[in-house]
Amino acid sequence: MPELPEVEITARRLRAALPGRRIQSVIVPDPRILQTGDVAEWQRRLEGAAFLGVRRRAKFLLLEMEGSDREQRNHTLIAHLRMTGKLSVAREALPRSLRFAAELEGGSRGAFLCFHDPRRLGQLWLMPGTAPATLPLLARLGPDALEEPSSAERLAARGAGSRRAIKALLMDQGILGGLGNICAGEILFRVGLPPDRPAGELTGTEWERLAAAIPEYLRGAIAAQEGKPLHYLGERDALNPFALYRHAGSPCPRCGAPIRRVVIAGRGTYVCPECQKGS
Ligand SMILES: [Zn+2]
Repeated sequence: MPELPEVEITARRLRAALPGRRIQSVIVPDPRILQTGDVAEWQRRLEGAAFLGVRRRAKFLLLEMEGSDREQRNHTLIAHLRMTGKLSVAREALPRSLRFAAELEGGSRGAFLCFHDPRRLGQLWLMPGTAPATLPLLARLGPDALEEPSSAERLAARGAGSRRAIKALLMDQGILGGLGNICAGEILFRVGLPPDRPAGELTGTEWERLAAAIPEYLRGAIAAQEGKPLHYLGERDALNPFALYRHAGSPCPRCGAPIRRVVIAGRGTYVCPECQKGS
C-alpha cells in the first residue's frame, strides 16, 4: 500500500527527527527483515553511529549514517516498506509487529526508530557509503516521479511502439520511480485514459496531460495526508481517500457511472467506464 506519497511523508517526518541523533542500541526481533549481513553486523555498524540525513528515492527510504568511533565508515540504511511497513520515531518500541528498532541516545521523547510491519514483507539493507547513486539496489530505478518529473517527450519515447498497457508502463520502476498500483490508477482516471490502452497508441496531447498529472497528483496526495497519522487503507481507522481505488460499484465522483474493477497486468484496477472510455 505505501506508495510515493506515503514514503515521502515518512521521509519528511524522519528528516525532522533523526539527523544529529546517535544510535545507542539495535534490536532485530525479526532478522528476516535484514537483506544484508546479520544482526551482529548491524549492531556493530550502527551502535554509536549518528544520522546524517534522510532521503527518498522512488519508494526507498535512505537513512545516511556517519560511522561510530569504532566503525568509522559511513553507511546508508535503506528501507522499503512494501505492503504494510511503517518506519517511525516513537517514544516506545511497541512489540506488536515490530521487526527492527534502534534506540536513540539522549532525550526522553521519541527515543526509538521503529519498523512495524504486520505482513512482514518490508526490507532493510545496510550499504557502505552515503552516495545513493552508487548503490546497486537503486541503480536501475528511473527518474523519481516527484523530484524529477518526466516530460511528455520522455514518456512518449519510452512508450513508443509498445503494446504494453499504459498503467503497467507507469508502474515500471525502471521508467518512473515511485508509482504503484493505486497512484497509477488514480492518475489515469484524472486524465481520462483507459488503463489498458497500449502505451504506443497515446497521442502527443495525451502524453502531455499525463506528464503534467503525475507530479500534480503526487503533490495533492502528500498534502492531503501531511500532518495526520499515517494510516494505510485496510487498517482500522483508515479512510479511503482515493477517487476510484476500492470503490467498485460506487458512483464515479465525476460522472456518477458505477466504478468497475478489472484486472490489468495481474493487478486489481479500478476504472470509470464513462470517464475512461475505451476500457
Ligand atoms: Zn466517471
